[in-house]
Amino acid sequence: MSEELPALPAIDDIRDLLRFETEEGRIWLAEERMVLLRSSELRGLRRELIESLGMERAKGLLIRMGYIAGQQDAETARRLRPDASLFDVFSVGPQSHMLTGQVKVTPLQLEVDEGGSHFHGVFEWANSFEAEIFLTEYGVSYEPVCWAQIGYASGYTSEFFGSQILFREQGCMGCGEKVCRIEGRPAQQWDDSEELLRFYRPDRIADKLFALQSAVTALRENLTAEQSFGDMVGCSAKFLQVRELLAKAAESQVTVLLLGETGVGKDMFAKALHEGSPRRDKPFVAVNCAAIPGDLIEAELFGVEKGAYTGADESRPGRFERAHGGTLFLDEVGELSPQAQGALLRVLQEKELERVGDTRTRKVDVRLVAATNENLDQAVSEGRFRADLLYRLNVYTVTVPPLRERIDDVPELVRHFVEKYCSIHGKQVRPPTDRAMAMLRSYHWPGNIRELGNMIERGIILAEPRGHIEAEHLFPQAAGPAGQEPAQGDASGLDEIARQVLDQGMSQAELEKALQRAALARCDGNITRAAELLGLSRATLDYRLKKEAGSP
Ligand SMILES: [Zn+2]
Repeated sequence: MSEELPALPAIDDIRDLLRFETEEGRIWLAEERMVLLRSSELRGLRRELIESLGMERAKGLLIRMGYIAGQQDAETARRLRPDASLFDVFSVGPQSHMLTGQVKVTPLQLEVDEGGSHFHGVFEWANSFEAEIFLTEYGVSYEPVCWAQIGYASGYTSEFFGSQILFREQGCMGCGEKVCRIEGRPAQQWDDSEELLRFYRPDRIADKLFALQSAVTALRENLTAEQSFGDMVGCSAKFLQVRELLAKAAESQVTVLLLGETGVGKDMFAKALHEGSPRRDKPFVAVNCAAIPGDLIEAELFGVEKGAYTGADESRPGRFERAHGGTLFLDEVGELSPQAQGALLRVLQEKELERVGDTRTRKVDVRLVAATNENLDQAVSEGRFRADLLYRLNVYTVTVPPLRERIDDVPELVRHFVEKYCSIHGKQVRPPTDRAMAMLRSYHWPGNIRELGNMIERGIILAEPRGHIEAEHLFPQAAGPAGQEPAQGDASGLDEIARQVLDQGMSQAELEKALQRAALARCDGNITRAAELLGLSRATLDYRLKKEAGSP
């Protein structure tokens, strides 16, 4: 075909294929059902595609969508103009594109032989619908944006000639030019054909999404297990034995009594027991009996009826009722008043309770887990605790060992707490030095796991960003004679700064920005070093700075 191109033939024959079956709610283009869409719908769809899949994937998807439409039209082209010239038959594609309102096509150059072994085509596109919606949504682009349309051109031409011909935009309205200009060649003639073809291959995004989804589910399950076992990690025989005993108890309804020193994590074991039991979807209610004044404990546990005593203005349920169907954890159960002990015994025997000041009895279904660090046998012999209540409570007793009896768990616990508090404080710190670890292992741990957790948290706050936790960060007395005075001074200094910030009416966001500016100034604008100074990762600081600057 020569370089002097004839004008496009009359479009009437294609237009006549378009039939509106308004009564039936259908539109046809020849044999194919069509749908009239608003460009705002497609704009919204495109935006969602870009935002959920990213620019590259959205581009691929739309290119392939256009490709399929192009293939369809190529099938009808030869049937529609059986006796016409090759140019006129080929023009069915560009003209369909025009008829469906997507773009105005002007052929500029078309060299082709009938077999399609040679093809070179250049077309001008005006009024591109895709460029228009892109510009409305995102503004001027740095690369061409008429993806579905270019896919159509490639699909149509490839199907028409029976060999892979790819179009690309050499200029695009979406990039701020007046018109788009597209050029098509056999795939292998493009230097970057691999790059181009990538967009034409199906992207098994659904498979990837499913894989991601199952990964998230697995992570979430681990997280739940992690939460239910909380800070209880370890591999020592004593620890594993306790876990085993609790796992067995969880399956039954048995009342469990947890014994052990303060800080060994009885509350977390109780929570884990609940999470591992068939009651896990019902409430877990924890009460520290020592934290509630003796004269209020009954009302707190069993509820109160209006007017039961001065100040009881409203009826309200107690913790037992709130735990209905679930688990009630009574910590420091040895602290219960004699009346409360009597009432508790009754609930355990009868499975029913009376609110304070009420005569009605209410049924409750609660699994009880009690805990104490007291010697209850001794409390019974001293007359402070009811023997019959103790028999009810110690059906299934589990003693949680103190940390000094499971020193082998210290390294694993340390690792766990370092991870936990680094993420809470958004700071990167290396694990304790060998010396610090040796001291952790030889310490006698009167405050048990809770004390270890607190100590590691303090160590993370005091350690240099990306530095190791050192012995004196954990044990202030470990500092040499030249060592600094730890924590105390720093904390009160910080408090003073915080007060000044509040006095000036500054928000937390403003304070953060000021800190970032100061750090950048001190590091001559070096983001990596400024991030180190702030105890942030470079990526985090980078992100925050970009967000402030308003760039994407
Ligand atoms: Zn374009």
